[in-house]
Parts: sequence; C-alpha cells; structure tokens
Amino acid sequence: MSAPPPLPPNARATLRSVFGYDDFREGQAEAIARVAAGQPLLAVMPTGSGKSMCYQLPALLDGGLTLVVSPLIALMRDQVAQMSQLGVGAATLNSLAGEDEARETWRRLRAGHIRLLFVSPERLAMDGLRQALAGLGVARVAVDEAHCVSEWGHDFRPEYREIRAAVAAIGDPPVLALTATADRNTRRDIAERLFDSPPEVIVHSFDRPNIDLAFAAKDQPRRQLLDFLGKRKGANGIVYCSSRARTESLADYFAREGFDAFCYHAGMEQRDRNRNQDRFQNEDGVIAVATIAFGMGINKPDVRFVAHADMPSSVESYYQEIGRAGRDGLPADTLTLYGVEDMALRRRQIAERGDEARRRIEGRRLDALLGLCEASACRRQTLLAYFDEASAPCGSCDVCRGAVSLYDGTVDAQKALSAVARTGQRFGAAYLADVLTGNASETVARNSHNAIKTFGVGRDKPKQAWMGVVRQLFAVGALETASEEHGGFRLTEKGDGILRGRETIQLREHAARRARPDRTSRGSAEALVAAAGGALNADAVDLLAALKKLRLEIARRERVAAFMILADRALIDMVAKRPTTLDEMSAVHGVGQRKLAAYGDAFLKALAGAA
Ligand code: ADP
Ligand code: ZN
Repeated sequence: MSAPPPLPPNARATLRSVFGYDDFREGQAEAIARVAAGQPLLAVMPTGSGKSMCYQLPALLDGGLTLVVSPLIALMRDQVAQMSQLGVGAATLNSLAGEDEARETWRRLRAGHIRLLFVSPERLAMDGLRQALAGLGVARVAVDEAHCVSEWGHDFRPEYREIRAAVAAIGDPPVLALTATADRNTRRDIAERLFDSPPEVIVHSFDRPNIDLAFAAKDQPRRQLLDFLGKRKGANGIVYCSSRARTESLADYFAREGFDAFCYHAGMEQRDRNRNQDRFQNEDGVIAVATIAFGMGINKPDVRFVAHADMPSSVESYYQEIGRAGRDGLPADTLTLYGVEDMALRRRQIAERGDEARRRIEGRRLDALLGLCEASACRRQTLLAYFDEASAPCGSCDVCRGAVSLYDGTVDAQKALSAVARTGQRFGAAYLADVLTGNASETVARNSHNAIKTFGVGRDKPKQAWMGVVRQLFAVGALETASEEHGGFRLTEKGDGILRGRETIQLREHAARRARPDRTSRGSAEALVAAAGGALNADAVDLLAALKKLRLEIARRERVAAFMILADRALIDMVAKRPTTLDEMSAVHGVGQRKLAAYGDAFLKALAGAA
C-alpha cells in the first residue's frame, strides 16, 4: 500500500465549520486524503467508527457530485435529513419518492446544488439513470455496506454485482467501498467485484473500547434483565431475543415495570413495525425489545445499551448487534445472557443441517461463541482474537473487572460427569444438579436416583453452581446432547478423559447472586457528564435533562429525529462548557455553522435560564 497523500488543506476547517468536530477519528484522515486524491479505496471499519465521514467530507471539498450506493431506503432518507440539517445539499432517488420530489431532485442536480446523491443498487441498474448520471458527471462513487457484493457475507444482494458495470457506464469515477465486515474472504470478494484494479485498503481495529462487555449465565433472566435496565433508566437501549413470542412478553413486562419499551419482530404488521422503528429512531429513553430483524435500518448514535435476553447465534452476529450501542463514542454497556438450553438448541439446529461441510463450519462457529460466553480470559481479547486481532486485556469487561475467577475444577467435573454416567446419560442440567445436591425430587425418587453413589456428593454447592458446571462441561465439549429432541447429556471422549483422571479442567467459580457482572452503569446521565469532563454537581444532570427537553421540542417541530438536531454528546459538552455567547457556543462538539445559526440562541437561553 502506498503512503497516503496529504490531507487537502481545507479538510480540517470544513470538519469544524460544517460538522462541528475538532478531530478525525482513527482511519478517517487517511481515508479522506485518499478519496480526495481520487484513489480507489476499500475501507474496513467497524460500525460507529464514522465511515460515512469518509465520503461526506470529500464531497464538500471540491464541488463535484458524490454518488452514494446504499441498500436501505430508510437509511438513505436519514442521511439526507442529516445532511440537510448541516446545510449540505443532498438528495435520494428512490421508488418511494413521488414525481414532484423526483423532478425537484433533478432540477437541483442540474443546477449543481447537490453534493451527495443517494441511490439504491436496483435504481442504479436502470439504463436511464446511468445515462443521466453520465451526463451530469459523477466525481466519485461510495458503496456503503460493500460486503453485500459477496456471498461470503450474510447479506448477499445480487444487485450489488451490477454496480461495477454501472460505474463503468457513468465514466468510471473512483470508487470508495465501505464495510464493517472483517473477514478475509469477503474483503477479497469486494476488491475483485467492485474494482477493476486492486484498491488501496484500510483496515481499522475492530475494537470498540467505549462498549463494555459482560456475559452472565441465565439464572432468573427477567430479574437479571430488569436489574440491568433499572440501572440505565432513561437511556435508549435494545434487548435482543431469540423468538417473536419472547419479544412480546418481555416488552409487556418491561412496560409494566415502568419502562418505555415496545417490541419489534418480522411477524408484526408492517404498519406497527414502522411505527415502533420510528419511535425508536426519533425519541429519547426508549427500549426496543426485538428479534435480530431489528437493527439494519437503525443508525441512532446514542443507544446506551444492548442486552441479549438469549444467547446470540454467532460471534459475528453478537459483534454486529452490540455494535449498535455507543456509535457516538460515549460509554455504552452490554449484557449477554446465555443458558445451557440456548446451547443445546443451537447444537440441534446445526445437527439438522443437511450438508456435512456446512455442519462442520457452523459447529466451529458455535464453539467460538461458547468459548466467548464461558471465557476465563478478557472478553475483548477473546472477541478480537476471533477477528484475527491481537490485543492486551482491556480492563473494562466483566472478566477484567474480576467477575470471574478460575479454580482447578477437575474434582467437581468428575462428580458431575459421574452423575451423568450413573443416571444413564440422558438427563439435563437441572436434574443432574438435583442429584448432585441431594435433592430427592419426585422424578429423582421415581428413577431411584437418590440411591446412587453420586446422590448428594455436591451438597457443598448450590444447585445453580452445579448447573454452571454442567454448562461449562458442555461448552468445552466434555458433554454432548444425548438426543435430538431432549435436553439431556451424555459423555464425550473428552468427558470420559476427565472422569478417569487423564485430563484436568479449569472451571469458573460460581459467582454469588450479589456479584453481578455489571457493577456500575457507564451509560447513566451522571456517568456521561463525568466522562465528558463536566463538573458533576447535581444540577449538571438537571441541566442535561432540560437541554434534552428543548431538543425534543425542536425535533417535533421540525419533524426530524432528536439526534439530528444535536447529538447527546453536544448537549453534554454544553453542560460541561456552559457557553454564554454564540462564539463560545461555536466551540461545542457537533455545533457547526448551520446548527449554530439555527439553534444557538435557543440553547443559550435554556442554559442561562437554568443557571
Ligand atoms: P458508521 O457508518 O461507521 O457506523 P457513522 O458514519 O454513522 O458510523 O458515524 C457514527 C457517528 O459518529 C455519527 O453520529 C457521526 O456524526 C459521528 N462522527 C463521525 N466522525 C466523527 C468525528 N470525527 N468526530 C466526532 N464524531 C464523529
Ligand atoms: Zn477485558
């Protein structure tokens, strides 16, 4: 890869005057320098790293037209609204636009008033549009979600394969491809299918240091979730569930407990789905309880937490889902719950796959996920290692915070494995734990398992601890599911090895109820103000609430999302800096010229009124 050309001289000034930002984030300066110099570029950067800036800023520097290919109409509309808020000429051509809107867009395009034009790949496949664009002259093309061109990625879209031909047809302007998908095969596919010669490549670290990572075995999941939410009252969040029914029952439960929560899944009426998605996008203090169908069209920057009520389906999807938190770079929290039933369910689903090679790949992916759930080393290190990235312990995940300690669990493992063997290799975790703790439940008695040697050998530990031992034995492959239908376990060769003393095993200490994986909320108003360096007296929090209220009023009046008026970070910075003049206001994060002119006075008044 060649050394990057220098940044255009007006780049930094434009970043401040239009966007209100003082510094580039990692990777942005290099990407912008290359794009502005007309180099073809593939930028692999995680969600929330600020990929859009890599084409937004160059689009403002030279007066040319930037074409942005993006797969989702909702996201295109959002970006256009956001650009308009910044005073930047932007438009989208899509199937939902009426004739008048389309005519107006073409008028502005011909007049040279548009810097960023967003189109879907389907649109770009149309000859008429290609000819019109060739006539206008396109300075560069940005392809968002570029992994959609690859069958390796999980979002393959055949229309993406037509983009290369479209670019050639409009005069072959340089291409910038953007994606948050890390793996090598996908990257190679993008380079081959969107470019005619190898592009420069920038790969950003996949670490999202502002996102806290925590996992917990399901104990009383509703309680665990309620605890987690309770510490984050008033913050925006997402709770992912594995089934539609569960999103509905959990959303009801949270609403009854006083949270502004609603559900979202693919089985809902389109209208209700859109309404809930809009609420999430536009309002503050809302919680979406959703299946993984929720998220693609969401770019809310101030999501303060993501919880998984059930184990995610893979490390990739875990990373993508938690990545929706903290896009604004401020602290955000995650909590992932997992249980032995989740693990067994996934194993059964994989076993049902017809094709042997696929089963092996999926099996390995599941093992990686279980390894992360039961990790005894830093979660972040484990996660990044999965993406081929070496790192040091992070200091801010549950494991680093000391929520997990290990001990030589060989003897405990032998007790549990012996219980499996002596009960006939067909029972689940709860049953085995009853036998181990000496609880002669009705079924245990019926099976006469209160008479076996292992009965009660684990009285020294609570039932939950034994269930944890069984789960860990399953996670490391010492146990496997005994049948496709039931949740029971049998020994594997590895399990047999441990039972007979040929192998030892480290286990995680059972964390008592009190030691919760998340001890503090880093996403609360107090924590955010403190993180921003603001004076943390009681009225800082009240002042922030007052500014948020003003923001919501303006957003409703202008019919745009609250975060499009000003980001949380801007409001927090105002609380910290307490500007009293427009000049001082112009130094606040995220306040560029257009926003200063439009909202500066209103916010100064609110700040003065509260003082
Ligand atoms: P991605 O597409 O990589 O997920 P976005 O482009 O949506 O991320 O950017 C995420 C958030 O970061 C947006 O709110 C954006 O305004 C903000 N952002 C981008 N660049 C900067 C920067 N240099 N300084 C501060 N905030 C930034
Ligand atoms: Zn860590």
